[in-house]
Amino acid sequence: MKQHRKHSVIPVYLLILSIFISVTYLTSTVTTMVAEMIPMERSNTIIIDAGHGGEDGGATSCSGILESKYNLEIAMRLNDLFQLLGYRTLMIRTTDRSVYTQGETIAAKKVSDLKQRVKIVNETEDAILISIHQNTFSDSRYSGAQVFYGPEGESHALADTTQTALRGALNPDSNRTAKKADGIYLMQHIDCTGILVECGFLSNEQEEVLLRSTDYQKKICCVLGTTVATFLTK
Ligand SMILES: [Zn+2]
Repeated sequence: MKQHRKHSVIPVYLLILSIFISVTYLTSTVTTMVAEMIPMERSNTIIIDAGHGGEDGGATSCSGILESKYNLEIAMRLNDLFQLLGYRTLMIRTTDRSVYTQGETIAAKKVSDLKQRVKIVNETEDAILISIHQNTFSDSRYSGAQVFYGPEGESHALADTTQTALRGALNPDSNRTAKKADGIYLMQHIDCTGILVECGFLSNEQEEVLLRSTDYQKKICCVLGTTVATFLTK
């Protein structure tokens, strides 16, 4: 298990988060001002994986929007926040595309895509993976964020902390607990601490409206950003 360096960054979160939440458009001047106030000595690279993409749209929401679109929007916001917090970040995709390198059929491309994501993660030193997805279920009553964890490093502890934070901030009526990422190829093959966050259910009409909104996406990112950053300073 890799040790994380301790940093005194907590008070800065309030400033960053207030800016992140209240300012719709961050000017480069504001971004530079904030970045200059943060000690730039993070030891981890935060890898942000926007799930699916391209031919693989993932789930379809009850209003007909593909999961891959929501994943990318939230991942891009999360990337901005981690950069403001002074972390090196790496996004597995920044556009609507898969990251496969070979394969003729959809199934073969999907296998190549997942292997490529694993390769990117495992080739990155001191990586922490946050994979962003959205949930769906045949019964539209279900809602709330769900966090899954991989087998390595501090994944289980980070998932527990993140699930608790998401429940407290976004889903106070939820009794969900973090789950082991059984059967999720990416999570089972990475060799670093990693969590996969299903931000909500696209099959629930009310939650899909929330997940579509800029404010709710920012709230999700604030919870994920502060939780992971605080976890890494311990
Ligand atoms: Zn997904």
